[in-house]
Amino acid sequence: MAARVVVVGGGYGGSAVARQLDDVADVVLVEPRDGFVHTVGALRAAADAAWEDRVFRPYDGLLKRGRVLQDWVRSVSPGVVLLSTTQRLEADFVVLATGTSYAFPAKTGDLTRDGAVAALARMRDDLSRCDAVLVEGGGPVGLELAGELTHAFEDLHVVVVEREDRVLPGEDVEPELRESVVRQLTDRGVELVTGAALVAPPPYEVGRYGPFVAETAAGVSIGAQMWFRCHGARPLTDYLDDDLVALRRRDRTVRVTRHLSLVGEDRLFAVGDITDMPEDKRATVAHEHAGVVVQNIRDLMAGHPPSAAHRPARRRLVLALGPDAGAAQVEQADGSVVVLGARDTVRLKEDDLTRTDLPAPVALVGVPPQPKRPTA
Ligand SMILES: Cc1cc2nc3c(=O)[nH]c(=O)nc-3n(C[C@H](O)[C@H](O)[C@H](O)COP(=O)(O)OP(=O)(O)OC[C@H]3O[C@@H](n4cnc5c(N)ncnc54)[C@H](O)[C@@H]3O)c2cc1C
Repeated sequence: MAARVVVVGGGYGGSAVARQLDDVADVVLVEPRDGFVHTVGALRAAADAAWEDRVFRPYDGLLKRGRVLQDWVRSVSPGVVLLSTTQRLEADFVVLATGTSYAFPAKTGDLTRDGAVAALARMRDDLSRCDAVLVEGGGPVGLELAGELTHAFEDLHVVVVEREDRVLPGEDVEPELRESVVRQLTDRGVELVTGAALVAPPPYEVGRYGPFVAETAAGVSIGAQMWFRCHGARPLTDYLDDDLVALRRRDRTVRVTRHLSLVGEDRLFAVGDITDMPEDKRATVAHEHAGVVVQNIRDLMAGHPPSAAHRPARRRLVLALGPDAGAAQVEQADGSVVVLGARDTVRLKEDDLTRTDLPAPVALVGVPPQPKRPTA
């Protein structure tokens, strides 16, 4: 009998693990959404409907032998996974791949493609009535959103509120990258209000039309008709049972070994954003994790100890500000970091989109061809 593998979460890491074990194991992929969401392009799709087909994808053809179960996992113990219904799955191997929660529109609350697309269409309709929007949070997601919005809605005034003294406040961010991003955004009229948080969130749901005046703790008033929350993302690991909960850190990541098994567990693995690997959380890294876990499960199935180990990925930040702008920083093999301009950033973003896509991309509808990597 083939080994039973339950994969929890069908994003980048989970769908890659499920697909790569499908030929040797009985795989069940549990995912509440009705398809794969290509989050790397989510903010582009929020601003530009032509990107929706690239971002919201059916799982059709992902698994030949295995199956995708559309449900939430509510509890995980070694070898046993309980679903939101009364269903109980027993497994020889369990792989956790539940990622991070982000507010709309980086992720949508609607679990169906149709619902997500309708929510984005309503938001874009509302945006065309707005003079100004407020983005709360000046980290990579907030600034990427500001870039996409100002590209798609040229007359829209975007105000980014960041409670630290500067946007992109992370210590790992190169000053040159920060300066480049600030320059590109302010050239488009984006207003950066730093050094104080909002006293209270605006009285409307994020991404919905509703005129308001918000105030920062420093007394700056901001009038706008829509707002977005771009902070407070957290790894989704609530489902660990009482015996596993000690493996969850304060930041909600789970403790893993270099083989990406949970500490003290040899048949329970984790991949992607939820791991406590000291590295940037990226789709490309989730894919690397998937390769390690697949190899280790294959080893264990063959009666060998796990042979693959993950080394924390090199630092890399790709900050697109719309389809033709942005900046990136990439750590080199010798530990130095290079900062790249708009042209290279566009290429790196496209690389990430392509490398982390499901294997058989559907034909793109209405998406303009992207610049090719120079061959020299
Ligand atoms: C706006 C934005 C831009 C980004 N740009 C880039 C980029 O350019 N390059 C890059 O490499 N990375 C980028 N990232 C980061 C990248 O999206 C994440 O690192 C990546 O999604 C992590 O993959 P994952 O497999 O861990 O989780 P995810 O891809 O988030 O998948 C997790 C899945 O688990 C499911 N799930 C959650 N809870 C449960 C449960 N209880 N039961 C069952 N299923 C569950 C979710 O529905 C989801 O489908 C970006 C992220 C954002 C938000």
